[in-house]
Amino acid sequence: MDTDVLVVGAGPTGLMLANQLARRGVRARIIDRHAGPALESRALGVQARTLEIYSHFGIVQQALDLGKRATGANIWVQERRAARVPLGDIGRDLSPYPFLLILGQEDNERLLGDALRNQGMAVEWNAPPAFRTAAASCSAMRHTSTVPWARKA
Ligand SMILES: Cc1cc2nc3c(=O)[nH]c(=O)nc-3n(C[C@H](O)[C@H](O)[C@H](O)COP(=O)(O)OP(=O)(O)OC[C@H]3O[C@@H](n4cnc5c(N)ncnc54)[C@H](O)[C@@H]3O)c2cc1C
Repeated sequence: MDTDVLVVGAGPTGLMLANQLARRGVRARIIDRHAGPALESRALGVQARTLEIYSHFGIVQQALDLGKRATGANIWVQERRAARVPLGDIGRDLSPYPFLLILGQEDNERLLGDALRNQGMAVEWNAPPAFRTAAASCSAMRHTSTVPWARKA
């Protein structure tokens, strides 16, 4: 595999990393063992700092258009509302996006994937699993690294 950087996994972490690398002119290959993005419902809340980073990627407006600003959270105990936590503009004076945006993980992954494609990179789906376990990963690095590996007593 010919690449300077291999990003294993095209979840939010891998997609964010690949975009950050691309912005700095580092071309990476990004592989994932799955056939495509996750389809089930996962994380929902996008924090202000993430939106600030999205503005660097040029995708913040799409995220704002797709998502919904959270006004508050209700806590239910035994079928009764026990508390309400107002959220509103929780980051007032701290961020240009002073709120929690409700936008599903699958939409976030799609936007990050689009941003990657705009920079000429794309996820390689159906890749053979890289480094199946942490132990296998260490073992592979040991074989390719010239750094001596000390064994703990
Ligand atoms: C059902 C569910 C509900 C959730 N709800 C919430 C929520 O409400 N709020 C919240 O904050 N978080 C929630 N989470 C957690 C959130 O989804 C994770 O924090 C987030 O997905 C982590 O992103 P990630 O990129 O680090 O990992 P992942 O999204 O797990 O992505 C890792 C990717 O790497 C790939 N991969 C892994 N190993 C290899 C390998 N060896 N070779 C090739 N590819 C590989 C996988 O196929 C996967 O696509 C939920 C998770 C699940 C499963």
